[in-house]
Amino acid sequence: MTQTTASQSITIALSKGRILKETLPLLEQANIIPAEDIFSSRKLIFDTNHPHIKLLVIRATDVPTYVEYGAADMGVSGKDVLLEHGARGLYEPLDLNISRCRLMTAGLVDAKPIPDGGRVKVASKFVNITKRYFASQGKQVDIIKLYGAMELAPIMGLADCIVDIVDTGNTLKANGMQPLELIAPISTRLVVGKAAMKMKHSLIQPIIEQLGEAVERAKTAENLADEVSA
Ligand code: AMP
Repeated sequence: MTQTTASQSITIALSKGRILKETLPLLEQANIIPAEDIFSSRKLIFDTNHPHIKLLVIRATDVPTYVEYGAADMGVSGKDVLLEHGARGLYEPLDLNISRCRLMTAGLVDAKPIPDGGRVKVASKFVNITKRYFASQGKQVDIIKLYGAMELAPIMGLADCIVDIVDTGNTLKANGMQPLELIAPISTRLVVGKAAMKMKHSLIQPIIEQLGEAVERAKTAENLADEVSA
């Protein structure tokens, strides 16, 4: 039996949750298929149809860390997570064009104006992005770190506004809020560790190319579907 050594193998870290559902069909199009059903398993590491490719299924916010430190060679990560992490030690060779949304500021529809000289309180789980965004506008704000349900903060008077992900806008609307300023359009990216790109280029490059082709095919199918429904 031939054994695959670490230098001949590739580990791809996938983000759990909504991104995973859109990532697996793309991987399948690129002929990378998990050996078992990821959704009905509690495992964290999965074999694939390629003896040298393994998949990790981890929290989205941990993907850049695994790739940065070389514990995974490649990863699939939302641009929001990458912007927050700072993307040290990573290349971002491909926009997978999935899980698209917007990172925005949002506030209550009937928000009271902040008195002159008052400091705005902003609640977010994206503390670094929030700091950079308001600093780039020359505004000093107090940032309140939350881990979820950001919409609740302005309702309960914890914050004046929030920085969060907006897709349809329905979550904001259901909580009496509205999107205000666009901070960045977001989509899911393929990331590669800088060391892995150097040491395992011959294994990594074909994966990037096949995924790139899968993304292009998905875009063409999406455009055709738009034309038919127009
Ligand atoms: P929506 O009500 O459609 O605007 O969705 C907003 C909520 O869904 C946000 O609070 C996010 O937590 C979540 N969400 C929507 N799209 C994404 C995405 N692409 N990645 C991560 N979270 C998302």
